[in-house]
Order: sequence, then C-alpha cells, then structure tokens
Amino acid sequence: MEKYSLIIVGGGAAGLFLASSAELKNGKILILERGERLGRKLSATGNGQGNLTNEKVGETPYFSFSENGNARVQEMLSRHGKEEMLAFLEGLGGIFLPDERGRFYPAGRQASSITDLLRFEVARRGVEVKLGCFVSGVEKRGEVYLVTAQTPDGERVFAANNIAVCTGGKAAKNFGSDGNGYEIVKRFSHTLTPLYPALVQLKTETKHIKMLKGIRVGGALVTALVEKTPVASVQGDIIFTDYGVSGDAIFRISSFIADKIGAQAVSLKIDLLPSVSAEKLASVLESKQRKYPNADRGELLCGILNNQVGRAVMKRCLGEPLSAAVACVKAFALPVSGTLGFDYAQVTKGGVCFDEVDENLQSKFSRGLYFGGEILDIDGECGGFNLQWAYTSARVIAESLKSGGQV
Ligand SMILES: Cc1cc2nc3c(=O)[nH]c(=O)nc-3n(C[C@H](O)[C@H](O)[C@H](O)COP(=O)(O)OP(=O)(O)OC[C@H]3O[C@@H](n4cnc5c(N)ncnc54)[C@H](O)[C@@H]3O)c2cc1C
Repeated sequence: MEKYSLIIVGGGAAGLFLASSAELKNGKILILERGERLGRKLSATGNGQGNLTNEKVGETPYFSFSENGNARVQEMLSRHGKEEMLAFLEGLGGIFLPDERGRFYPAGRQASSITDLLRFEVARRGVEVKLGCFVSGVEKRGEVYLVTAQTPDGERVFAANNIAVCTGGKAAKNFGSDGNGYEIVKRFSHTLTPLYPALVQLKTETKHIKMLKGIRVGGALVTALVEKTPVASVQGDIIFTDYGVSGDAIFRISSFIADKIGAQAVSLKIDLLPSVSAEKLASVLESKQRKYPNADRGELLCGILNNQVGRAVMKRCLGEPLSAAVACVKAFALPVSGTLGFDYAQVTKGGVCFDEVDENLQSKFSRGLYFGGEILDIDGECGGFNLQWAYTSARVIAESLKSGGQV
C-alpha cells in the first residue's frame, strides 16, 4: 500500500492552494480528485474571470453558525490574508489587479489561469495527482489514515499520516461538490450545521413582475427584511426572471437571508432609483401630470425608469395617488419564497461545525485530520471572499503541517 505524509481529498481551490504550499518533513503529498481535471470550479469563478480576493478582506465579516466563527476567521486572515495570497500567486508568475469595486482578478481576466498557475506549481513540487478517483471512505488505524478511493483501475486504498478534506460543500454539484464530503467526516464524529444555498437567485412573488422577465435594472438598492426588520442592503444590478429575481445585488443579499427563508417572513424592498430622492421624483411626476393631463397614467415613469418597469410600477399602484407610485419606485416590495437551490448556488452556508476544529483547522476528535475551504461552516460575501477563505484555510493547514502535523 502506498503511504503519504498528506492526502488531500479534493483538488479544488482549497486543495490546490494547500498542495502548492504545504511543506512536509517526509515529503510525499497526494491529491485525490474525483473529476477529470483539477480546479474545475475555480476555473469557472467570477463569470470565468476569477475574482480571487477583495480589497475589503479583513474588514468584511464572514458568516458562520459558530458564535465566534467570524472572529476566528479574521484572526486567520490576519496571518494569511489578501496581501499574502496575492504575493503567493505573484510568486507563481501571475499579475493580479483590482477593479473599481476592489475585486482582484488575474490581469488576463481568465479564472482558469489561476488554476494553471497552481497546477504548474503542484507539478513542480512533485505532488502526486490522481484524477478520476472518488474517495468513498476514510478510516483511522492507529496513527495512520486509510483512504479508500474508487479509481479508474478499481477500488484502491492509500495510507497517510495526515488527511485534508477539501471536498467543498453542496453548491454547484456539476463541479464535483455534491456534499459527499460531509459523509466522510461524519464517521469521525463531526457534526454538521444546517446547510443552505447562498449567493443564489431568489424566488419571489411574481404577480407584479411577470411582464419584466429578462429586464435588468442597474444600480438598484436592495434591502432584505426579516419579519419586516431590515437586515442588510446592497447596491447592484437586479434581473427580473420568471421565478423571481437574479443579478449581482440579489446574489449578494442572498447570503444574509438564506437561512431565514421559509422559517421567517422574508421580503425584499428594492429602490429602483436610489440616486433620485423621493421628493425630486414626486415633483417631476407632478409637473409631468400637469403638463400632460390626458396622457396614459401607465406611461408616467417614461424617461425615468425602463419603460416596462415603469408600467409595472404604475400598474401596481392603479387607482392610488401619485405618492404611491413614488413609494413603489423607492421601495418595490417582493416577498421571498425560496432560492433556486444548491445546484445554482455559488456557496454553501453551513457545514462542518467550526467549533469542532482547532486554530489549525485540525479536527478536535482526530489528530492529523484537517478541513480546508467550503466544507467548513464558513461562507463569505460575493466579491472574492470565498476564494480568499479557500486560500487562508489552506495556508493555516500548511503552517500546522510544517510545524508539526503527524509525521
Ligand atoms: C459559478 C461559481 C462562481 C464562483 N465565483 C467565485 C468568485 O468569483 N470568487 C469567489 O471568491 N468565490 C467564487 N465562488 C465560490 C468558490 O468557487 C468556492 O467557495 C471555492 O471553490 C471552494 O473551494 P473548495 O476547495 O472548498 O471546494 P471546490 O472548489 O468545490 O473543490 C472541491 C473539490 O473536491 C472534489 N471532490 C468532492 N468530493 C470528492 C471525493 N469524495 N473524492 C475526491 N474528490 C472529491 C470536487 O470534484 C472538487 O474538485 C464561485 C462558485 C461558483 C459555483
């Protein structure tokens, strides 16, 4: 049986960051990846452009059901943060630049180029990579982990002193992350928090938006309310769809409400024109109505909003005073009924309970068992925070292995 110092289960973002930076005394590292390629999801991130971190890393909280989860992540980010990540990748020969919103991308705007940089480094370091190998079980015999994998050559067992489970969460299973990793770690007595799709499209009441399918509203200010209390606001694009709403602002706001939908009354309040005050809008509409007293009221928002959106707003306020139309533009209400689900989500909210890992992301129940990336109950906002977590968690593990681990 082949024996390794470290077996990394899953060659996604966290697995690749770990394999390209871990230094072990007795060298041998193996990645077991179920897919035919490494970093499939990484190569699709940021609409194929690879938004790998953000200027606001360090000041933006991460979500976790663990009470001190965010504080612990911030501490890890202070050790292995954005600057280190960028320097590391630049050390591999890339150049990374921020956009106007502080989101960092490879200069060539190609996510797969990040995967390539990591792949080349993994090869240079002599890390063994086995593709098409689905890990179906991990057990510990004495101090040694035995990893069973379904390989193209049949079932095989690999042995290692240390295991890093980097199998991702349950989001976007077409990239290989279907939640099977949770089953592997449950055998080590680890518990899972509830799991929710996050960074995902939202299903809403469609009565008032049916006719708007495919229309994008740029720069809308979206506020999420839980039991009528505002919990978060984000500004960005929204796209009306036949099931509800999508777009950058919706993805971002979904992280704040994903775990509340269904359990509590969740709704969105959308300011379709945030840069124009209610007073200004009211005065424009009043003078327009005076000037064109016989005009179709449904056209009153022409020249102010997208025509179809304007008509939908006016239809919603049929028979009501102008002030209702102003209120509807500034706070277009949409009750939320669900999300489009894990298959469409970019991340999983929840995961392996963060209280069950130590400051090195090592299992508190089994020495030498580590967790990296999205499998843990940590998720970040949209904008590069999740790949930053993949990097940071991998470096925390690498640091622990360098200074100890099981050798
Ligand atoms: C479409 C999309 C766009 C995104 N864009 C961004 C972005 O721009 N910026 C950002 O920060 N985040 C983005 N994310 C989120 C980010 O990609 C993930 O948070 C990150 O990839 C998680 O890294 P991971 O290594 O934990 O898991 P993954 O990258 O999902 O990798 C897990 C790997 O484990 C393998 N695996 C699973 N089970 C087994 C098994 N039993 N045996 C062997 N192998 C297994 C899988 O095949 C997979 O390759 C995006 C996600 C999606 C879906």
